[in-house]
This record gives sequence, C-alpha cells and structure tokens, in this order.
Amino acid sequence: MTKKIMVTGGAGYIGSHMVRLLNQQNHDVVVVDNLSRGNADVVKNAELIIEDIGNSAGMIDIFKAHKPDAVMHFAAYAYVGESVDRPELYYANNVSGTLNLVEAMRETNTNNLVFSSTCATYGQPNKLPITESTTQNPINPYGQSKLMVEQILSDYAVAYGLRSTALRYFNAAGSAEDGSLGEQHDPETHLLPLILFEALRIKNGGNPADTNLKVFGDDFDTRDGTCIRDYIHVNDLGSAHIAAVMRMIDTPDLGAEQFNLGTNQGYTVLEVIDACRKVTGEDIQFKRIARRAGDPPELVADASLAMKTLGWTPEFADIHLSIQHAWDWFSAHPPTKL
Ligand code: UDP
Repeated sequence: MTKKIMVTGGAGYIGSHMVRLLNQQNHDVVVVDNLSRGNADVVKNAELIIEDIGNSAGMIDIFKAHKPDAVMHFAAYAYVGESVDRPELYYANNVSGTLNLVEAMRETNTNNLVFSSTCATYGQPNKLPITESTTQNPINPYGQSKLMVEQILSDYAVAYGLRSTALRYFNAAGSAEDGSLGEQHDPETHLLPLILFEALRIKNGGNPADTNLKVFGDDFDTRDGTCIRDYIHVNDLGSAHIAAVMRMIDTPDLGAEQFNLGTNQGYTVLEVIDACRKVTGEDIQFKRIARRAGDPPELVADASLAMKTLGWTPEFADIHLSIQHAWDWFSAHPPTKL
C-alpha cells in the first residue's frame, strides 16, 4: 500500500537512491535536507524542503504539514577520517540532530523511523562475520555517534513506544542500474569512486604510473595485508528500508530493532582494485601509504537476520555489478578534476 515517507538527507548519495526506489513503488515522498553536503538536483519526483534536522520549530512544522507514515533518516556526516579530526561535527549533527528529529516526531505523534546506522559501531569486532549480537565498541567518533543514536532509539521505544529499525550498513557501493543517479561526494574519500576516478584518468590518456590512488596500510592482519570490507549495492540498502518500514507499520508492538545490511562477503582493498581493473579494462595502479586513523582491519556482515526477519534478499550482491553501475555513472558524469 502507498505510504507517505519523509526522507531526511534525500539529497545525498544513499538518500537520493532511496527516493528513486520509493517513487518506483509509488510512495509519496517528502525530502528534508539542509544541502550542506547534498545536491538539490538529485531530488527528482519529490518535494524538497531545505531545513536542518536540528531546527526544532522548523521540523515540527514539517511533520504537522506532511504527517508522514514513516521517516527514513539518512541526514548525517559519514566520513570516518573527518570524524577523528573534527568529532564535534559528528556529535552535533549525528547525535543532537537526531535527538531533535525524534523529539519532533514525539511532539507530533509521528511513529516508525528507519535509521542509517553502520558497521562502524562494531569497531574492531571480536569475531567474524559480524552478527547483531557482536559487541559494539566503535573506534572512531563516526561509529560512536551512530551507536549513541541507537541507544537513544532503544530508550525512546521503552519510554514512548517509538518504533525504529536501525540498519547497520556495511560499505555502500554502486549506483542506479539505469544510470539515472550516482555517487557524488565532495570531497570524495571512498575507495570505490577513487579507484574509478583513477581508471577514468587513464582512459583519458593519463599515464598509469602517475597514479593518484593510495592504499591506506598493507600491514593489517588480513590475507593480503589490506583492509577487508563488505560492499553492498545502494539499491539493496534501499529495498531493505522499504521492507523495514512495512514491517513497522504492520507490527504495532515492535520496539527498537537492529539489523546488519551486507552481503556476507568481504573484499580486501587490493581485491577491489583488481575487480575494478576487470570491469573497466584499465591498468589501474596505486601507491601504498600508511594506515588511515580509525580503520578496523576487517568488517564483514552476517546479514542473515535481516534476510530472515525482513524477508529481504540483496539483488545486486556481486561486487562487479556495483562497480559496473558506478563506472557507467562516472563515465557519463566525470568529476571536473581527475
Ligand atoms: N581506502 C584506501 N584508499 C582510499 C580510500 C579508502 O585504501 O583512498 C581503504 C580504507 O582504508 C578502508 C577501505 O578502503 O579500508 C574502505 O574505505 P572507505 O572510505 O571507502 O569506507 P569506510 O570503510 O571507511 O566506510
């Protein structure tokens, strides 16, 4: 059945793909984004309200005017490295901003929140693959800020009956399969786009030996010394959100739930580079440099609980699909400087 969904951060990478999927399924969407890191032009077929989730009066007015059936909350800062250097941004926006959002929901009797959480809440896990009961012990302020929000949501479920689903994303990757949307971060710090930027530079005649691509650390305790991550297609993240909203709407006595979203398969940085070589056909080279602060060696999901409980199956689980879709997007929309 058609629902009215508020998408905070709908002008960002994952949020804009979410809006596209909701539109495809004929849901009615209102986007709230302060455009501090998003792009207004990626919000298509939805009303865009430019507002900061930290503005109480503004958010209460929006809830009163739109009366959404559920909120999908993507608006957050999400750079691990930046969070180590500037933790105040993460605690202010991710924690205080979300507290303000849920207070506005409480004030306006709005229920059902899907929250973008992260595998960074697990820190350096004591066992792999990571299940939802793996100890959460973040090693950077980004992960810490998301864990704090999970705690807030659990407390609000008990105190006020707020239904929420925290989806702990592993590494979001890829873009719309039809080339209509892509990943646009400024600055871009994520591995997959940076590898593809390097492939584009070579495709445009650049010398592979003059590479801009850096591998952060090759002395981790992993099969080739580089970090292992679980890359999940952005469309698959989106379909899990819709399943989570429907479950909350259909199950009134649910409290706060948490699920991992990943593919159950990890790739080292070098394996991702190799997969990008195969997809792009370019001779991508790299430099090895020191570890980046805050990077755990291995994060791989056991996502079986989400699959079972939400009835969700990743449709684009093969990393080559994520790379192909991202490559199609970046080839058509190259960044201004490579
Ligand atoms: N990485 C890298 N070079 C880069 C960017 C990232 O080696 O230019 C590594 C990073 O250390 C991590 C993995 O690639 O092990 C994924 O990093 P990303 O920033 O894409 O996502 P994160 O895991 O931090 O959410």
